[in-house]
Amino acid sequence: MRIFTGYRVHHSLDRGPAKGGIRYHPDVTLDEVKALAMWMTWKCAVVNIPFGGAKGAVVCNPKEMSKGELERLTRRYTTELMIFLGPEKDIPAPDVYTDSQTMAWIMDTYSMNVGYSVPSVVTGKPLSIGGSRGREEATGRGVVLTILEAIKELGIPKEGATVAVQGFGNVGGTAVRLLCREGFKVVAVSDSHGGTYNSHGLDVDALSEHKREAGTVVGFPGGEDITNEELLALKCDVLVPAALENQITEENADNVQAKILAEGANGPTTPEADLILYDKGVFVIPDILANAGGVTVSYFEWVQSIQEFFWSEDEVNARLKDIMVRSFHEVYDVHREEKVDMRLAAYMLAVGRVAEAFHTRGLYP
Ligand code: NAD
Repeated sequence: MRIFTGYRVHHSLDRGPAKGGIRYHPDVTLDEVKALAMWMTWKCAVVNIPFGGAKGAVVCNPKEMSKGELERLTRRYTTELMIFLGPEKDIPAPDVYTDSQTMAWIMDTYSMNVGYSVPSVVTGKPLSIGGSRGREEATGRGVVLTILEAIKELGIPKEGATVAVQGFGNVGGTAVRLLCREGFKVVAVSDSHGGTYNSHGLDVDALSEHKREAGTVVGFPGGEDITNEELLALKCDVLVPAALENQITEENADNVQAKILAEGANGPTTPEADLILYDKGVFVIPDILANAGGVTVSYFEWVQSIQEFFWSEDEVNARLKDIMVRSFHEVYDVHREEKVDMRLAAYMLAVGRVAEAFHTRGLYP
């Protein structure tokens, strides 16, 4: 018998049911889960989807656990959370080291306990039990939609605009593919081993093939190897950090030469770096806006699951575009009117919406 510690934090329920991922990690702490839950509140509010913020975690090392152990852990955690969960109460999703299979176990455990199938209790489910088309690439697609609006506002021509992307996983990989399709020139891409650079633009299909075979973008014959530090300092129109947090810091922010910084990752820029970027005139599309495409399509998945009526991928993408474009301009308007940077504008909008909901509902009991 082993005892594991698990958490579920509800940060705000003012605008709707709690929404947020579940993380399995040996080092996860309650403070971290609280901060991540708050982040979800602001992210849902900035794109105006009707959710509050939540986050969950179990302190465990999934790399050392069998599939059977993970299933038992997930089912027990779900059982403990039963009274908090529900499509109208709290809807979990995958996060670090949890995936669509984890969501399927949560959905099944919840359904078995209430006595009927409730697919809408989680998002990020497999398609076979009510997942949404377009969810996999939603975050990267959302990042690209915000970049397209930003270059229009800044008067940068799309054709041939240069991009460097840190991280070639779900978010970075999708962003690279879609940016190429839009006519951008992707000059550099990196992963945890390092990066590759070609000033004439990388052949992205050949690069994906190389990554599949070699397990990294490093050593790609169509480019020259660079470090992650060098990638962040490249002269380019758009820089997309899509890997980890705290990548752009007090130490290296002054080296950033990009005109636009589109935060695919959560928290890639430290607050000290933010001030430096602002003084340099770098246009930052903050994480709670740039990467909100993922939670937006999670919202679509919840809507589809509740209605048992499923949309085509084109419908999902069109609705995602509507929300991302509208949200970008709402934040941009605050940025212009209040003369604040884009991050502060996004927070002003998000916190304002939560406060308005709170005041409108009133305090009871
Ligand atoms: P992923 O695991 O698919 O990809 C991460 C990529 O980053 C990999 O290519 C990895 O090699 C690379 N990487 C790791 N360490 C690195 C380093 N030190 N330097 C450069 N590259 C490094 O993860 P993902 O789902 O694409 O998530 C990326 C970021 O986006 C995370 O911050 C995540 O929180 C955020 N995010 C993801 C989603 C989503 O829907 N997937 C939604 C919102 C935010």
